[in-house]
Amino acid sequence: MDNLSPLKSIMVFVLLVIVAAGFLLVSDITRGDKAGGEVFQSKASRHNLIGVVLNPEGQAPVNLYLAKCPVARAFDFPVGPPNAKGYYNAQPFGKNNHVGEDWNGRKGGNSDLGDPIYSIADGIVVFADDIGGGWGNVVRICHNVGTRAKPVYIESVYGHLKDMAAKKGKIVKKGQKIGTMGNLDELYYAHLHLEIRSNIGRSIGGGYSKDKTGFLNPTVFIKTHRKMK
Ligand SMILES: [Zn+2]
Repeated sequence: MDNLSPLKSIMVFVLLVIVAAGFLLVSDITRGDKAGGEVFQSKASRHNLIGVVLNPEGQAPVNLYLAKCPVARAFDFPVGPPNAKGYYNAQPFGKNNHVGEDWNGRKGGNSDLGDPIYSIADGIVVFADDIGGGWGNVVRICHNVGTRAKPVYIESVYGHLKDMAAKKGKIVKKGQKIGTMGNLDELYYAHLHLEIRSNIGRSIGGGYSKDKTGFLNPTVFIKTHRKMK
């Protein structure tokens, strides 16, 4: 009997680990459900997006490109320009600590899969790559909202693209197609995650954060920068 005790305690320990792991999994899924999150097909996908926080690949080496960055004189929405006709913002800036906006076609589901995505203003592409995780294909564009002499740079970030038409280091015009709307191989319903950042060149982050420092409300920004001097 004494010989069996260690074996029994190992078995009890293993059983406890299995039960604990099961509990964590269930509470994770429930939490994702309550949070609402992105327009999810899979409830666990929010964790994938958050998991990208430590992924350094989204870093944009913006300094290489800023000298060529054109002055942006006007801004439009990235879908259905100029006013996002046929689309709606499913998860506004700030909701669930979202640091961007989720643009969806009004017909819902994947009806908008492959729809064109346009640059919101003149700028220079500083990043265009597949970073996997909850992001997939990401395009990042720097815009000068100051003057040639006194530049003020902001950055627009377009996530989950199906295809990318933008190339790193290339200048783009407002309304130029930079890619198409994606669903990350059905991880989500197709949508565009759009961010506008006043802190340029930062790590890609996780799409959600309590701290909104360096992130701007895209709709407010676009509407207040329709036409600049
Ligand atoms: Zn989003």
